[in-house]
Amino acid sequence: MLLAVLARYNLWRWPKPARWPRLLMYHRVLPDALGEGTTMNLARFVGQIDALARRGVRFVTVSELMAAEDAALLVAITFDDGYADNFQHAWPVLRAHRATATIYLAPEMPDIDRLTPAMIHELVAAGVEFGAHTQHHVHLPSTDDAIARQEILASKQAVEALTGQPCRSFAYPYGKFDDRHVAMVAEAGFTSAVTTKKRILPMSGLRRDPLRLPRLSMVGQMNRFEFWLTITRGRYRV
Ligand SMILES: [Zn+2]
Repeated sequence: MLLAVLARYNLWRWPKPARWPRLLMYHRVLPDALGEGTTMNLARFVGQIDALARRGVRFVTVSELMAAEDAALLVAITFDDGYADNFQHAWPVLRAHRATATIYLAPEMPDIDRLTPAMIHELVAAGVEFGAHTQHHVHLPSTDDAIARQEILASKQAVEALTGQPCRSFAYPYGKFDDRHVAMVAEAGFTSAVTTKKRILPMSGLRRDPLRLPRLSMVGQMNRFEFWLTITRGRYRV
């Protein structure tokens, strides 16, 4: 039994210090989700946010995190794509903990139940940060450079038009990018960009490479033990 656990789980890595901040990546939160893919069941999401709150963390936006003097116990909750359930289901949970979040919008992403402008305005007024995630949620490495540059810049402008606020942070769709895209993101004026690299870094590490910020991946099937491993080690699988 113990051997099976050791072979499967990332227990042998040292837990990272609490003074190193955590960036968490979510997508959808739904009450009836059964744990498929990246969609998180609402009750499970409540348990995760409660567990973090009990550890005494402070929830901040990605831009607040990057500007923080003291990163101890800071957690940045992020949501990719901009699903309406982020407002309908996740937001009431976060608000109850006076928590905030960062939502990466792909304003022209096809076929998603997206946040409405009214929902976005309410979230902005409550202090939620909105970042950009390209206009159409494109796979950047297989996109022509001129189009990739336009997708990145246009998403920044569209998010700024929707929120009435500067859009400072970017998320690479599918976590896929190369050095050219990092340069495009810098050129468009973003000051931070998040990836899907599953690591926990000290603040100095995040500041050294703000356009390649790692995030911890929150998946629907994750149980409490796997969540705890992810929060302390960066990932739960070996
Ligand atoms: Zn996405």
